[in-house]
Amino acid sequence: MSDGPTYGFDTLQIHAGARPDPATGARQTPIYQSTAYVFRDADHAAALFNLQEVGYIYSRLTNPTVAVLQERIATLEGGVGAVCCSSGHAAQIMALFPLMGPGKNVVASTRLYGGTVTQFSQTIKRFGWSAKFVDFDDLDALRDAIDDDTRAVFCESVANPGGYVTDIRAVADVTDAAGLPLIVDNTSATPYLCQPISQGATLVVHSTTKYLTGNGTVTGGCVVDSGNFDWSASDKFPSLSAPEPAYHGLKFHETFGNLAYTFHGIAIGLRDLGMTMNPQAAHYTLMGIETLSLRMQKHVENAEKIATWLESDPRVDYVTYAGLPSSPYAERAARCYPKGTGGLFTVALKGGYDACIKLVDSLEIFSHVANLGDTRSLIIHSASTTHRQLTPEQQEAAGAGPNVVRISIGIENADDLIRDLDQALTKACG
Ligand SMILES: *Cc1c(COP(=O)(O)O)cnc(C)c1O
Repeated sequence: MSDGPTYGFDTLQIHAGARPDPATGARQTPIYQSTAYVFRDADHAAALFNLQEVGYIYSRLTNPTVAVLQERIATLEGGVGAVCCSSGHAAQIMALFPLMGPGKNVVASTRLYGGTVTQFSQTIKRFGWSAKFVDFDDLDALRDAIDDDTRAVFCESVANPGGYVTDIRAVADVTDAAGLPLIVDNTSATPYLCQPISQGATLVVHSTTKYLTGNGTVTGGCVVDSGNFDWSASDKFPSLSAPEPAYHGLKFHETFGNLAYTFHGIAIGLRDLGMTMNPQAAHYTLMGIETLSLRMQKHVENAEKIATWLESDPRVDYVTYAGLPSSPYAERAARCYPKGTGGLFTVALKGGYDACIKLVDSLEIFSHVANLGDTRSLIIHSASTTHRQLTPEQQEAAGAGPNVVRISIGIENADDLIRDLDQALTKACG
């Protein structure tokens, strides 16, 4: 199938990147469980190693099953290329790696997945990188935070855990003016609800562990390139614009044009960091993506129903779902996320910390796990788990205070989920 803008999302989520197996005619994408690939001859091998020809060498760099997934996600996101990785966190390091260097910083939203806050505020310091966190609703604060050493700006489309929604176009106007790439983590929205590239993002990262795979089976990540950024416009991105010593002085941007970032991700990123997705994981994620739009519609439908019910319950203090008419983000959600804001939100209980813990322990259908984006409904008390390493101020800023639980609504019957929440709230709050 030739991919093109003539096909709709539901068609592309099944077909993009895939074709019947040329060797066997197998209709489903085979799991190419092979580490290495036979070269036609010595010249072929030399051309592959010199990046003069595209092909398969060794599965740390490229694998045919993973390649189908890469093309599938790139197509759904409207990008020119994608690199899959072993996890969402690997994808974030892979995304920053070509852009950053010692002494350079990333300006990031305060409203991020807790693990990302830890990765950015602590671990990347070991590379000599740093992060500055600001509230992306305050565009002046964002502008002020950007300095001469900033190399990227990072936010989530629908932010974990609160389901807060970012106005990507407004943020992209700031990064465009500063000549910097905007990286959007689109894990919680998925390309079905939001295509950040169409709103000005340069790069999109995913934890494919979540909605893209959809049923909690494998970890994975992906970096998608819009192909829209001019890496040679300044001297800020030498990995992409200057001669690369590891490839005899090749300049990625000059040689590969709008595929420079993707080629760098494979030829340097995967080759030397080795955060590779394995073909089994790619297979599970390809299976999941085939039903992405159907699942997301049901996640949204259920979440809207359940958030509305919770909001009206006297035991509940507030619900953060941006899809609720009462949300301060309702106007932005309707404008930027017209198909809905996903299945993720937080609920604050009047009973505080103790009630949250009892609620989590009393639910029967909901599972108490550190995951989201599963077909089954999940709940977690962020402050005592995923956001535990954060300071109380960081927890509040991230929307993960002690009185709050995060809910990831699955695709079960909404009425069953409401009954389960009702009985557990009765036990938790009396
Ligand atoms: C889970 C998650 C990550 C990290 O992904 P892993 O696959 O767990 O490494 C990053 N960002 C968001 C929004 C997530 O939900």
